[in-house]
Amino acid sequence: MTATPSNSPPRVVRAPRGNRLTCKTWQAEAALRMLMNNLDPEVAEDPANLIVYGGRGQAVRSWAAFDATVAALTQLEPDETLLMQSGKPVGVLRTHPDAPRVLLANSNLVPHWATQAHFDELARKGLIMFGQMTAGSWIYIGTQGILQGTFETFAACGRQHFGGDLRGRWVVTAGCGGMGGAQPLAVTLNGGVCLIADVDASKLERRRKDRYLDEICPELDVAIDRARQAASAGEARSIGVAVNVVELLERLLQRNLTPDALTDQTSAHDVHSYVPAGLSLAEAAALRASAPDEYAARSVSTMVQHVQAMVHLLERGSVVFDYGNNLRQRAHEAGFARAFAFPGFVPAYIRPEFCLGRGPFRWAALSGLAEDIYTIDAALLELFPQDAALGRWLSMARSRVQFQGLPARICWLGLGQRARAGVLFNELVRTGRVAAPIVIGRDHLDCGSVASPNRETEGMLDGSDAISDWALLNALVATASGASWVSFHHGGGVGIGYSQHAGQVIVADGSPEAHARLTRVLTNDPALGVLRHADAGYERALDCASREGLVLPMSGASVPAAKVKP
Ligand code: NAD
Repeated sequence: MTATPSNSPPRVVRAPRGNRLTCKTWQAEAALRMLMNNLDPEVAEDPANLIVYGGRGQAVRSWAAFDATVAALTQLEPDETLLMQSGKPVGVLRTHPDAPRVLLANSNLVPHWATQAHFDELARKGLIMFGQMTAGSWIYIGTQGILQGTFETFAACGRQHFGGDLRGRWVVTAGCGGMGGAQPLAVTLNGGVCLIADVDASKLERRRKDRYLDEICPELDVAIDRARQAASAGEARSIGVAVNVVELLERLLQRNLTPDALTDQTSAHDVHSYVPAGLSLAEAAALRASAPDEYAARSVSTMVQHVQAMVHLLERGSVVFDYGNNLRQRAHEAGFARAFAFPGFVPAYIRPEFCLGRGPFRWAALSGLAEDIYTIDAALLELFPQDAALGRWLSMARSRVQFQGLPARICWLGLGQRARAGVLFNELVRTGRVAAPIVIGRDHLDCGSVASPNRETEGMLDGSDAISDWALLNALVATASGASWVSFHHGGGVGIGYSQHAGQVIVADGSPEAHARLTRVLTNDPALGVLRHADAGYERALDCASREGLVLPMSGASVPAAKVKP
């Protein structure tokens, strides 16, 4: 863990609510509130140490940096831009009213030096922080942020492998943290049984309290039996057990049991967050502090055991996929040659969505009123009456999702839909149907803003997995289009050295200027995802580009010239 936050005194932060400005513009106000919301104890995994989620993903580098950021945002003029370098405010520059109010760069290192060891050394000196994805880009909204994506992934798994949904099937996974905690609910919403291990009982308890997890079983064999019985009975049920994942998988192998599906969302992207087998949480914390190199070595050797067990279960007939934490890569680097025997979730289930510019789009009500989110839910159903899946999702979300921090909603929308939704939100603010402006952003689990060869860009048709020009172009396009804040990150999701990605957030404050910015930003951001996949040769993306009238200067014969704008 980084030295700066753990040495700081605990503080409690909560975003202001309502429609009274503490800053000079709604863009700066939204940035201020979302930074604070990321650190709200209802939202963040370890707010006292400034950890938002994703292992050690932070929104700001230290409490001193937090105070300076809040002061800078409060004073920021409508034609100024605040610069954040890995969670520390480093300057305010004169730009113009349509420019982003904040530009953020997180965890970036020159490729030759982009190693975990070098990053950790810089973090120990207080020079850098790990921004993960939406932590460092100030648009984390709690576990809901990943819920629909996780739901869609398990839905696709059910369709592809089990002829429909997950009814009567048991899914084994691990990691019940900020994002992984969405797994039990996503599986039960698909009708299946989820058996989930987390080495930290308090994480299971937190998800149980927030209704993402149904029950916690105190004993491993009882938990396994309970999961199998629930599956046989066709019950949709989630069961948590507080053990190391390796203990669970090895017990399944010993007992000759084969789950229907198997995945994992432990924090394997970070060798210092993943917990080695054979250590209690307290022992792990002590070893991490006293001998970080030994901790890392034990962590990697547990990951090898972990992936070996997953491959055994694959061979026995489980449907196995990697869930975006770079676990296979770690095991492969440590010498397990068959670590990539199972696919990542993007090529397995999600890529067709990316070809349409679809991905986790999200918004939060700055009023703090749940009613504003429900008003938007209803307005969206009117805007897209033909979208049955959207209707199902919104009604399920309303009945099952508990808000964390500012009320928020996640929803997968694609090119065309996002701009229409953004303009609608602006109109709801303008006409007073919602009580305060709405802040709109997205995950970095995204179609056009991420280069991550073991995740978002795994197995691209043209082999362009590791090219990060697209992520850079995305950040530049969001800036040029007038997003309210734009960020560029390294290492999110999969760890230092393995990804580069960009984030953007835009505020609907009801003004005509916001209308114009929303139209540009929410068209151009998903458009880049369609262009990225069209350029790689995906027919579905080429068709989408053609339908939406995107200009592809070298599109060849696949895009009819008549449909491309002059
Ligand atoms: P987190 O740090 O909030 O939670 C990780 C959890 O794993 C913790 O509760 C921890 O106790 C548990 N854990 C660690 N080692 C363990 C072990 N050996 N056995 C059992 N439990 C163990 O992280 P998060 O935000 O939930 O993210 C989890 C991982 O998923 C990260 O690597 C993240 O990058 C990845 N992720 C994937 C997606 C996706 O859509 N696929 C999205 C977000 C995050």
